[in-house]
Parts: sequence; C-alpha cells; structure tokens
Amino acid sequence: MTEATESPRTGRSTDYLAIVFHLWSRNARRKRLIGRPTPAHWPERLADRLWYWDHLSESQRRRLLGLIAIFLHEKEVVVPKGARDPDAARLTVAGAACLLLVGFTDTYCFDRIRTVILNLRPFRQRLPDSPIEGLFGDLFASGAYSTNMPVVLAWKDVRAECADPGLGRNVVIHEFAHHIDDLDGAVAGDPPFPSKALIEQWRTVSHREYDRAAERRAAGVPSVIDAYGLTDYVEFFAVSCEAFYCDPVGLANEHGDLFDLLRALFRIDPRPWFARDPMVDLRPDNR
Ligand SMILES: [Zn+2]
Repeated sequence: MTEATESPRTGRSTDYLAIVFHLWSRNARRKRLIGRPTPAHWPERLADRLWYWDHLSESQRRRLLGLIAIFLHEKEVVVPKGARDPDAARLTVAGAACLLLVGFTDTYCFDRIRTVILNLRPFRQRLPDSPIEGLFGDLFASGAYSTNMPVVLAWKDVRAECADPGLGRNVVIHEFAHHIDDLDGAVAGDPPFPSKALIEQWRTVSHREYDRAAERRAAGVPSVIDAYGLTDYVEFFAVSCEAFYCDPVGLANEHGDLFDLLRALFRIDPRPWFARDPMVDLRPDNR
C-alpha cells in the first residue's frame, strides 16, 4: 500500500482494487440484507401505509422487504420533528421508492442517492423557464430531485399518496423515477432501457404520446397523465411512472404503447393489483 502511494501508476491500480473491493463488499452486504428476515412488525406497518402491499404476491413482498432493508441501511432519511412516527415515515418512503425495483432480481438500490429529507409540508420551489400554461414564478412542490443532491419530499403528501391509489399520483415514485432517468448521466426523459432498439422506441413513443396527452388536455378530456407531466419530456416520464403504478389500467387504455414500454422498463405489470380489488372495480372511471 505504501508503494502504491509513492508511484502514480501503482496508485491507480490500488485505486482500482479499492473500487473493486468496495463494490464486492457492498454487493455481499446487500445479498446478506436481502436474504435475512426483516423485523416482524414491518409487514403490518407497510400494510397500513402502502395501498399496494396487500396486492403484491408473496415473492414480491419478500423482495420489497429486502430492498427496504438495503435502503434503510444505506441511506439517511431525515424526518421532521412534527412527524408522529419517524420509523414508520422512513419505512413508507423506502417502501414507495423500492416499488420501482420490485420487478428486478439484482441488489441495485438507488446507489447515488445517500439522503432523503422529509419536509413536513409542501415547500416553495422556483419553476423552470418553460412552465406549463397558466403557471409562472414559484409553486409549492411536494418533491424535488437534483443530481447528487438529497431527494426532498413533503411528508404530508407522501403519507396521503402512499395510502390511497385513488389520488392517482405518488411523489416518491415521481422523484425516484427522475433518478432512474438520471442513471445514464442526464435527466432528459430518456430512461436507461437495456437495448438501443428500446431506447429508440421510447423516444418515438414518448414524444408521440406526450403530444396526444397535450391534445387531450387542450380539448378538456380527462387524462391519467397529470397536467404537470406536460411541462416537458422529463416530467412526462416521471408523471407517466406515477400513472403506471397508481392507475395502470387507465394508462394502458389511454396510452397503450407507453404502458408497454414502462412494463418492459420496470419488468412488472401492476394491473392485476387492481383487478383483485373489488372496490377498485367499482370505481366509475375504471376502464
Ligand atoms: Zn419532476
């Protein structure tokens, strides 16, 4: 080790070995965490806090529990003083973020996100240069994502949206979808599909469906895509991810090709979660 610090060439190989060792030990730790039993009270708490918990299969629940264990072990979730149950708040945030990873089989867990900060309530945020029509200046945001910065979330909205799919949105899914978009080094509305063909397909389909969603909204037709998704392609991807998990039947009916690509991206189909829920089947807008 001493020699390595004296020689730039050997130093580089020592750095390389350090990175390899770091990745190896991290993966080994994650495999241990994902494989061992989680605290006995977690399932009951998650069932209380996450609307989709009861709809997941046994294996999906096991995987989500393991991912939550990794998430809470590696990341700091800062809870505001006014939150009544800080542990439940951390569990809720981890359970919503890791929903995006349930369809995979590896131990990836939002590696570059180290900190999540919960605000008690929505916070003031400056809008970008090209706001959607009718919105200018500042707005109160429920969440914020920036590369290599803590994710900021409004706990009041996290709690409500994680408990009720009828709201049709989820700020945790939204902000962590931005991070997935960012995995290729840019937040551009182009998520990292595993093949060039799918990347091209996504560009064509998402731009076309963005235009269709904008036309629909301009004509006053209700849409599963929230108006904020029409800010730009970046927000369109994040808002589409919210619709994919919170109203998958609606998204599949309204933007079928977009739904199919998100299903390929996340390797999961959330539609059966709703089919098994008789209350959801009774909703007048259920298609
Ligand atoms: Zn956003």
